[in-house]
Amino acid sequence: MKQPILLSILVASLWAEPRELQPTAPQDGERPNIVLIFTDDQGYGDLGCYGATEIRTPHLDRMATEGMRLLDFYSAAPICSPSRAALLTGSYPLRVGITTVIYQNSEVGLNPDELTIAEVLKAKGYATTCIGKWHLGHMKEFLPMAQGFDSFYGLPVTNDMMTRVDGETGVSLMRGAEIIEHPAKMATLTKRYTEEAVRFIAENKERPFFLYLAHTMPHVPLAASADFRGRSAAGLYGDVIEELDWSAGQVLAALREHDLDEKTLVIFTSDNGPAVLKAGAGGSAGKLRGGKMATSEGGMRVPCIVRWPGRVPTGTVCDEPAMTIDLLPTIAGLVGAELPSDRVIDGKDIWPLLAGVEGARSPHEAVYYYRRNNLEAVRVGRWKLALPKKFVRLPDGSLKPKGAYKLYDLERDIAESRNVARTHADVVERLSAIATTFDQQLREGARPIGEL
Ligand code: MG
Repeated sequence: MKQPILLSILVASLWAEPRELQPTAPQDGERPNIVLIFTDDQGYGDLGCYGATEIRTPHLDRMATEGMRLLDFYSAAPICSPSRAALLTGSYPLRVGITTVIYQNSEVGLNPDELTIAEVLKAKGYATTCIGKWHLGHMKEFLPMAQGFDSFYGLPVTNDMMTRVDGETGVSLMRGAEIIEHPAKMATLTKRYTEEAVRFIAENKERPFFLYLAHTMPHVPLAASADFRGRSAAGLYGDVIEELDWSAGQVLAALREHDLDEKTLVIFTSDNGPAVLKAGAGGSAGKLRGGKMATSEGGMRVPCIVRWPGRVPTGTVCDEPAMTIDLLPTIAGLVGAELPSDRVIDGKDIWPLLAGVEGARSPHEAVYYYRRNNLEAVRVGRWKLALPKKFVRLPDGSLKPKGAYKLYDLERDIAESRNVARTHADVVERLSAIATTFDQQLREGARPIGEL
């Protein structure tokens, strides 16, 4: 008697599988608005919904209850320019030639031949804007308008990269390719970016839009407007985060006001971990080790909240590894855009994860942790292998790692405090082979940075 029931359940579940693959996939040609909020050097532990106790972030906490929190979400670099290049191109920084920070006197930028999220969406009829920090080349040839953005309002570089304009030292606030304020008044940037974002939403409510809101904060030097200064129990850093939280609240309120909630995918994340080396001025990576500049989890695992009422299940958590480079392919999939076939895009479509499809798994064989030009670690499932930092060349020309591999079980040891390489030699061998193969392929397929 039991067998047929079991069998029918089995058959039913087999039948159900294809239909369940993307239960909340958007309709063809639906073209949801995309709002991507990107903070600078914000830590994994700096939001209430990621365990912060002193900093109040009610709007982002609410966004998390209305959507999904990703717990194993990574930026593709522990520093600014490479992380941003990766986010916008869906590819590892080394792939697109941007492995170090672009300085105020550099004459390079993200190669205009690269395809960005903005270009994918512009080709589908979206209004596109970049508000906030760019940091992918400040020369005219590399500004956001060269990468698919209709408009730009913000800083071309980081807020600690000073230049002299008309005898004044500071950073420039730009609109389009024009400097409109120098030195830029830092304390009101978050507020002004927010007003600009809210205006952009109102002006484009009748058509699909892409709002890339890349905040200057909480990168040092920290600054908050008078409304927020001195409010947080966590000092100025807390004030800054609370103003960013207010900003996210304003953006969400604008979407609600214009009845765009169900037409808009909102993503909130950070470019890299907190600046823990800047004593007192940096945020917290929570339980993670290290911060900005490091390939330990604190440097690259970042908070990520995704909200799209009716499409992303409410109050959910995802602990499958995913990365900022996945946003381009995911968004391309949502709007029905084909990915280019003439180049490698490293990111993967993670829509099944965001849609909460039961049993959906990370599409990545591995997460690779690059710092500058070097692959420093690899994660496969629960295992993270930190590679030796030095190599010696053998007589036959091949390279042999010098120094020890370190293996961590992230499921049991999120703080990377116990090296278990010795007791898991097979895992070390498997992951090191995966790392070597990928690194070699990536180098062979690397594309050039943009040069004048
Ligand atoms: Mg940064």
